[in-house]
Amino acid sequence: MTHRMEISVTQQANIEALLKGESAIPARGWLARECSINYEAERTLSQEDPDAFWAEKARALDWAQPWSTVMEFKAPYHSWFIGGKLNATVNCIDRHVHSDRRNKAALLWVGEDGEERSYTYNRLYREMNRFANTLKRLGVETGDRVILYMPLTPEAIITMLACARIGAIHSVVYAGMGTQSLKARIEDAHAKVVVCSDYGYRRGKEISLKPAVEEAVRDLSFVNHVIIHRRGSRVGDAPVKFDSEREHDWYDVQQPREIHCEPVMVDASHPLFILYTSGTTGKPKGVVHATGGYMVGVNYLARAFFQIQERDIYWSTSDIGWVVGHSYIVYGPLSIGATVMAREGAPDYPSPDVTWELCERFGVNVMFTSPTAVRMWMSHGGEAPSKFDLSKLRLMACAGEPLNPEAHRWAQKFLVGQSNGMVVDNWWQTEIAGPVLGTLTTFEARPGKVGKPMPGVEAAVVDLAGNAIPDNQGGLLVLRKPLPYMLTTVWNDPARYEAYWEDIPGCYCAGDVAIRDDDGYFAVLGRADDVLNVAGHRIGTADVESCLLRHPAVAESAVVGLPDPIKGESIKAFVVVKAGVEAGPGLIASLRDHVREDLGGIATPSDIEIRASLPKTRSGKIVRRALKAEALGQDPGDLSTLAD
Ligand code: AMP
Repeated sequence: MTHRMEISVTQQANIEALLKGESAIPARGWLARECSINYEAERTLSQEDPDAFWAEKARALDWAQPWSTVMEFKAPYHSWFIGGKLNATVNCIDRHVHSDRRNKAALLWVGEDGEERSYTYNRLYREMNRFANTLKRLGVETGDRVILYMPLTPEAIITMLACARIGAIHSVVYAGMGTQSLKARIEDAHAKVVVCSDYGYRRGKEISLKPAVEEAVRDLSFVNHVIIHRRGSRVGDAPVKFDSEREHDWYDVQQPREIHCEPVMVDASHPLFILYTSGTTGKPKGVVHATGGYMVGVNYLARAFFQIQERDIYWSTSDIGWVVGHSYIVYGPLSIGATVMAREGAPDYPSPDVTWELCERFGVNVMFTSPTAVRMWMSHGGEAPSKFDLSKLRLMACAGEPLNPEAHRWAQKFLVGQSNGMVVDNWWQTEIAGPVLGTLTTFEARPGKVGKPMPGVEAAVVDLAGNAIPDNQGGLLVLRKPLPYMLTTVWNDPARYEAYWEDIPGCYCAGDVAIRDDDGYFAVLGRADDVLNVAGHRIGTADVESCLLRHPAVAESAVVGLPDPIKGESIKAFVVVKAGVEAGPGLIASLRDHVREDLGGIATPSDIEIRASLPKTRSGKIVRRALKAEALGQDPGDLSTLAD
């Protein structure tokens, strides 16, 4: 199963703009001197003796049983730390509880409504164990799947850790997704238990989550239990109704309280979690990360790339529904014993100042955010952050989508300018759960470019046949070797896993278009396949198209991404309606509501156009390229294959 890959007209234009050159931002001497790794030395070791390199990184973790072989690669399958046994939570919690960090703040949490809670490592240990014991009592065993449909709350983090404690595999579904997306994931994972919150917040509004769960599990008899975390338990709030026998209240079900739970030591290859992402077909793709390799990777890069230190407050504005939330809200920073700050809600609600007010109040040192958030802050009047004391904020990492030079320079000046700190870009994906390319604090930053391969990474830019492309020319980004923090398979669908290694022979194909400059800096310009990136979230055109086709009025649909000044890309849908359907504004609203309910707000098209027909090849395939070029007023290129 290989994919269609191409470099789009817009990407080509971006390459040309990049090559015109942007001046570099020099490394900050004081930050470079504090950098905890020597890039050249690490990179050389990782090339000359990769096993020794990764074994050294693995020794930073606690293992119940040592590994006998560091890595085995029988293409396309790779395994790491073979024979080794460990538990992720022992590495994230227990070892700190048994040290001076015991009563250190592990988590400082702020709700969208302003509620604040703090958890020491010791408290997190107890709450995790209580919930792990509860899951066990409900019959959850090692290897069983548990779905989470929760906003970013301490309970969500506790649920993830509780699963890992007993070797259950968690799969977090972003709480902004709609009913059909949730149901498809519960079904594919064949989850025994679903844990949800009664509601989340979206810009001050309470959004009920329970109705979507009820609807999703209605005819899934293999779901034995639904546990509902009541946020509305405060005085005056209406109590949640528990409708069926399989529904439980989060607090009641945790009786009797047992605060110790033996960790289950799992094989390094045991899946820690499944995280669903969009591919080029309408079916969600369950990316599987294995405990050993994943933990080694995210632990190493928390230190090496994010440069988080013992005394730091670290804040990522992501959500646990995304891979960044897994690796750099939960497992990475906790594994190094850092203090994680987490806040529920949008970074501009109730106002863009909320972010800077929190940075000032907590004295945040290292922050991780998205280019969309940076562009949004910038659009709200550039100088707002200057009103706050951001002098402790020394590092601002950005990932998820291309960071345009203008946003990079603005963030460098207004967000880390007070500390003379640095903005660093980094590239990775749901499939590779930590930085792969990035700018270390010892490098100069080149706005528009991500940076260089992290130690252990063999990245290249190639053509469709896998031949290396000369520097400064666009091609496909590939990795020539697996990484420990790379997906080990696709849940229930090995063929889709194998496809990552089939598009370009002998390489992992990331699906992105990139260039490399003469000094080894890469720029990643966007997807080469039918996947959109809206505000850093990956959305398959096929997901939205098949959702539209489920609407009773729709006969045909095609979806394209158009450039958006804030979100990077926005979704435009073209729809052909069935005969006899009235195509008025009411229909457009109904189509948008339908997508929002099924897939969630992030996948809802910002523009829907009703057409009499769609451009197709003679074999009947819709030519999205032609629609996109038309929408952008560009030359669509060769259309000789069109039927009409
Ligand atoms: P996701 O799996 O949803 O995190 O999306 C991963 C995709 O986001 C990548 O394949 C890229 O297309 C894009 N991406 C992530 N980080 C960057 C970055 N720093 N620069 C450019 N694109 C990025």
